[in-house]
Amino acid sequence: MKKILLVEDSKMFINLVQNRISRDFQIECVIRQSYQEAAELLAAGQHEYLLAILDLTLPGSPDGEIVDLVKTQGIPIVVVTGRMDDLTRDSILEKQVLDYILKGPHTLDLLSGTISRFLRNKDIKILLVEDSRLVRESTKAILEKQQFTVIEANHGKTALQELRKHQDTRVVLTDFNMPEMNGFELTAEIRKNFPMDKLAVIGMSAYGNPLLSAQFLKRGASDFLNKPYFEEELVWRVNQNVEMLVHVEQLRQAAIVDSMTGLYNRGYFFQVGDKLFENARRQNLQISVAMIDIDHFKAINDTYGHCCGDVAIRHVAGILKNSFRSSDIVARFGGEEFIILTSNMDSSRIKQHFEELRERISSHIIKSDGAKIRVSVSIGVCTQLGETFDKTVSKADNLLYEAKNAGRNCVVIS
Ligand code: GH3
Ligand code: MG
Ligand code: MG
Ligand code: MG
Repeated sequence: MKKILLVEDSKMFINLVQNRISRDFQIECVIRQSYQEAAELLAAGQHEYLLAILDLTLPGSPDGEIVDLVKTQGIPIVVVTGRMDDLTRDSILEKQVLDYILKGPHTLDLLSGTISRFLRNKDIKILLVEDSRLVRESTKAILEKQQFTVIEANHGKTALQELRKHQDTRVVLTDFNMPEMNGFELTAEIRKNFPMDKLAVIGMSAYGNPLLSAQFLKRGASDFLNKPYFEEELVWRVNQNVEMLVHVEQLRQAAIVDSMTGLYNRGYFFQVGDKLFENARRQNLQISVAMIDIDHFKAINDTYGHCCGDVAIRHVAGILKNSFRSSDIVARFGGEEFIILTSNMDSSRIKQHFEELRERISSHIIKSDGAKIRVSVSIGVCTQLGETFDKTVSKADNLLYEAKNAGRNCVVIS
């Protein structure tokens, strides 16, 4: 596990930063309190720091000398400082640091935000579309310093090719005036396949024409940036657009996932199940619906308490999740009941698959709060398509009821 190097002379600040980083990221900090100490540490080698957080004024480093020292090791740097006049700001940015933060009441929140973006950006792809090689290279360097993965294109047509190859691109940063296909045409093309909440398009142009930004936005751009831009503005806008996408994605996930188990929720099961059901009917495909209920669960709550009951539900959910393919839908139907839709499972294997699942659940011992808990499940599996999806689900529910009546801890298939 990589560590964060913190060079800072204020003991109080060290404590605050250390606690916050450990709380938010579970990353260990290595502390040095002067230029000399940091120099000795780095000279000893054998370090792999993810990031360095540096105080600008330290014993032995009255004027940011520490930044130059740490830079020689290629470690990304966040500067934290008590002073920030224009001259200081310019000289820090010249040193190509990741970010600088002013000491004050919000320092810890800002620092935490910077670190979380730094960790997250590695997974974010940005497509940079610009015909000037010089601008492209300098912009790319700024984005890469923020850890983004950057893909390049020199005009709209090559950009569309790159986008086809990298469907997981989250941001397109595009110039307006380019040969072959300009930024407007590119934006309009992109929007045919990628909605605003999946991909951000940021238009850029050097013409200082206020109409350009409106035109970009009308064609579906999410944001606009005038060239020449300040590095901080570019970074801020890109980060803000990424954050918006991440939030929307989290909301989308929250709307379809059961927060206790991480399985899909009932609403999502019916939403997707209906579509898969119709598709299966049209194409004569095989789908099965299984209803699964934990046996005598009330007694588990009564004996071990509600918290242990929750652990048991999560445990069963985990086994279910690991027992099916990602194309199958495993959902929490409610309480201690689960529902599964499997497609194209070999019909001769279905019975065996669910028997093995039942066996896996009943043979496992769940440890919680010192208690050792065993649970079993009853399973009803409907392998015949009913008239509607709802009726197929009801049939699985009836089969589950039969399994309960047959003594529980068993599978009834029809
Ligand atoms: P059967 O074998 O017939 O299914 O018996 P059962 O006791 O499992 O069924 P019953 O429907 O009578 O009770 C289900 C219990 O599950 C009652 C409810 O309090 C409990 N339960 C529902 N949701 C949760 C939950 O999220 N956490 C915990 N701990 N208990 C839950
Ligand atoms: Mg141009
Ligand atoms: Mg039950
Ligand atoms: Mg029940």
